[in-house]
Amino acid sequence: MHSTQFDLTTLYDNHGRPINYVRLAVTDRCNLRCFYCMPEEGIRYLPKKHLLTFEEIERLISILACMGISKVRLTGGEPFVRNDLMQLIEKIASIQGVQDLHLTTNGVLTAPHVPLLKKLGIASVNLSLDTLDRTRFHNITRRDEFEPVMETLHLLLEHKIPVKINAVVMEGKNIEDILPLIELSKNYPVDIRFIEEMPFNGEGNHYPTLKWTYRNILQYIESHYPTLTKIPDAPFSTSYNYRVPGYAGNIGVIAAFSRTFCGTCNRIRVTAQGMLKTCLYDDGVLDIRQLLRSGIDDEEIKHQLMSAFKSRAKNGFEAEGKRHNHLPVSESMSTIGG
Ligand code: SAM
Ligand code: SF4
Repeated sequence: MHSTQFDLTTLYDNHGRPINYVRLAVTDRCNLRCFYCMPEEGIRYLPKKHLLTFEEIERLISILACMGISKVRLTGGEPFVRNDLMQLIEKIASIQGVQDLHLTTNGVLTAPHVPLLKKLGIASVNLSLDTLDRTRFHNITRRDEFEPVMETLHLLLEHKIPVKINAVVMEGKNIEDILPLIELSKNYPVDIRFIEEMPFNGEGNHYPTLKWTYRNILQYIESHYPTLTKIPDAPFSTSYNYRVPGYAGNIGVIAAFSRTFCGTCNRIRVTAQGMLKTCLYDDGVLDIRQLLRSGIDDEEIKHQLMSAFKSRAKNGFEAEGKRHNHLPVSESMSTIGG
């Protein structure tokens, strides 16, 4: 048992924004090589000893829960390439104060675990699926794994686990998939979220200017669905949300590159190597792994986390400007935890 006492609080940053959500990357490794996330070759994975151990993750989440963080998302890399992930999920699900546990996965290894995820009360799963076409899937992910991902999707629906599909919109790669993905939400209660491509791919920008901005994605959808209706965005939502009348699922558009949602940002990130990011666009503001391994107690760790939460950048542009190397972002999303 850790020394932390549970105490329900609301945590605010220095801009008055509540923080109640942590996204934690359990690994930087992945079994796909998505075009927008990683280069095809030459990736240097972290040595395993640089990853947080399950015990360290559990301790950290307990401390954060005690500070007021009630929503946890496990991500990566691909979470399921980490051995015994379900054991970690089971432990996190039982931490006092963790009210919602979510998962982001590419679905390749996920299907066999769906029944246990349901049993453990997973709140939702975000499944990354940029196309419904096997050849384009191979072209985008550089791996031939379309079938297991579709099996995961069907099992999640069968088990009535809320599912959101994340699709990054890319010129020349999957524009022809926008409408078929929307059609998937006609009969299935699955939310489809179209995401602006960001330069977090290990290489930097793929395009001199981003063609598929959230406005252009939305215009394209509206031109094909004139009855598309705006629906209220949930508090802290990063997506602008819509519905095609009569369809079972919703449509979301995420301005991940344009960064229109910073004013209500309620989330922090912990990278695979245990760096705290208080903004997606910063390059790490606190080495949590080093703190966890230094022998200090939970109260001191809390204190240091609090200082970081109280010096948060106002938005993604400020965070990018404050990066230590002053270079624009180019690291892979797999190390950050998207
Ligand atoms: N491997 C898991 C997956 O793909 O779902 C979890 C990690 S992945 C980094 C999390 C999310 O980040 C995915 O939905 C992916 O589409 C998104 N992502 C990765 N690189 C991105 C980029 N350059 N721009 C926009 N979204 C990106
Ligand atoms: Fe792997 Fe997810 Fe990145 Fe694709 S987006 S390469 S599945 S970490």
